[in-house]
Amino acid sequence: MKRITILGATGSIGQNTLDLIGRAPEEYEVVALTGGQNIDRLAADARRFGARLAVTADPSRLSDLRTALSGSGIEAAAGPEALCEAARRPADWVMSAIVGAAGLAPGLEALEQGATLALANKESMVCAGPLMLEAARRHDARILPVDSEHSAVFQALIGEDSSAVERVIITASGGAFRDWPMEELAHATPEQAATHPNWDMGQRITIDSASMFNKALELIETKEFFGLPADKIEAVVHPESMIHALVGFRDGALMAHVGPPDMRHAIGFALHYPDRKPLPVERLDLVALGQFTFRPACETRWPALRLAREVMAAGGLAGAVFNAAKERALDGFLDRRIGFLQIAEVVEEVLNRLSAHPGHIDADITLDNVTGADHLARVRADDIMNEMRI
Ligand code: NDP
Repeated sequence: MKRITILGATGSIGQNTLDLIGRAPEEYEVVALTGGQNIDRLAADARRFGARLAVTADPSRLSDLRTALSGSGIEAAAGPEALCEAARRPADWVMSAIVGAAGLAPGLEALEQGATLALANKESMVCAGPLMLEAARRHDARILPVDSEHSAVFQALIGEDSSAVERVIITASGGAFRDWPMEELAHATPEQAATHPNWDMGQRITIDSASMFNKALELIETKEFFGLPADKIEAVVHPESMIHALVGFRDGALMAHVGPPDMRHAIGFALHYPDRKPLPVERLDLVALGQFTFRPACETRWPALRLAREVMAAGGLAGAVFNAAKERALDGFLDRRIGFLQIAEVVEEVLNRLSAHPGHIDADITLDNVTGADHLARVRADDIMNEMRI
C-alpha cells in the first residue's frame, strides 16, 4: 500500500487527488489530510479515507475540526507547525497543494522525510527553488511536477538528453480577459476575473490566470525546476488549453504534450510514476477539435510576464518578493482596495523599492531569508496599496 498525505486536501488539486485515490482505495493508506477553512470537507474526507491525522491551517477552527471528527479516532491538529507535522509523518507520496507561500515549509518537511513530493504548489519553486532541490538531493527524495505545463515538459524530456534542449515553450489560455479590450481591464471585477475559459481551479490561481501572474510564476518555476536559462523559456497564448507545453531540441524537433484540460492527468502521472496507469480523463478527438491556435503572450498587455523576466535575471530572493507582493496585491484586488491593473503596479513597485536596498533581494536563499523577504514584501505591498488610495 502506498502511504499518502495530501497538503491542501480540501482545494481543487486536493479534491482531484482524492478522486483518483477513491477509485482504488485498496492501493492507498491515507496518513494525513490538511485544509484551511473548509472543516466539513476536511472531516468528511478524513473519515471517508480513514486518515490518521487531519489538520486545519487555522488554529481558531481546531474545536470545529475536533467536533466534526468526534468518535472517529482521527487525530486533529491546527496551525502552521501542525501542517509541518503532517508533512513529517512518514509517507511515500505527499501532494503539495496548499495555495501560496504557506506551502513552502510543509513541502520542505515532506522532502526531509524522504517522500516523493508531487508539487502543485508552484510558489515553493518560485520562492525557494534551490532549497527545494537541495532538500530533495540531501534526503534522497524526489520532486515530481504537477503543474500541467511542468508535467508536460517533464514527460517530453523522458529519455532525452537535457543538454540537447534548445527551448521550452509553456502555453497560457489567456484567462478570463484574453479577448477584452485593454481599456476595459481597469474596471474588471474579482467575480469577472475568477472565471476561467477552460480550467476549473481554485479562485486565486484563476485570477492569477487572468492577470498572467500564474504564467509568470510558471516561467520562474520552469527555470528553477529544469535548471534552464531564462532565455530558453517562452510563453505563448494557446486559447484551447490542449497543448500544455512543448520542448524544442537542437535538431529542430518540437515535442508537444497534448491532453484535455483536466488536472487528473498530471496528478495521476505523478501518483503512478514511473508507471503509466489508466486515468479517467477524456480522450481527445482531434478531428472534432479541428485546430489549435496560438497568439503572442504580449508583455504590454500582461506586465506580469515582463516582471517574471526581471525576477529571473535578478535571482536571489526576487522570486520570494515577487510572489509575496503578488499574493498581497491579489488580496487587495479581492477586497476591492485596488483595481485589476494595479496588481502588477503594486508588485513592480515592491520589487523596485526592495531592490534599492542591498541585502533585501541579493541575499542567500535560506528558509529564514525567504521568510523575511516574504514578510517585508507583504508589508511594502500594503504600504503601496495605502498610498494608492490617498
Ligand atoms: P484552492 O484554493 O482550491 O485550495 C487551496 C488549499 O490550500 C485548500 O485546501 C485550502 O484550504 C488550503 N489553504 C488555503 N490557505 C492556506 C494556508 N494559509 N495554509 C495552509 N493551507 C491553506 O487552490 P488550488 O487547488 O487551485 O491550488 C493549489 C496549488 O496548486 C496552488 O499553488 C496552485 O497554484 C497550484 N495549481 C493548481 C492548479 C489547479 O488546477 N487548481 C493547477 C496547477 C497548479 P481551505 O479550502 O479548506 O480553506
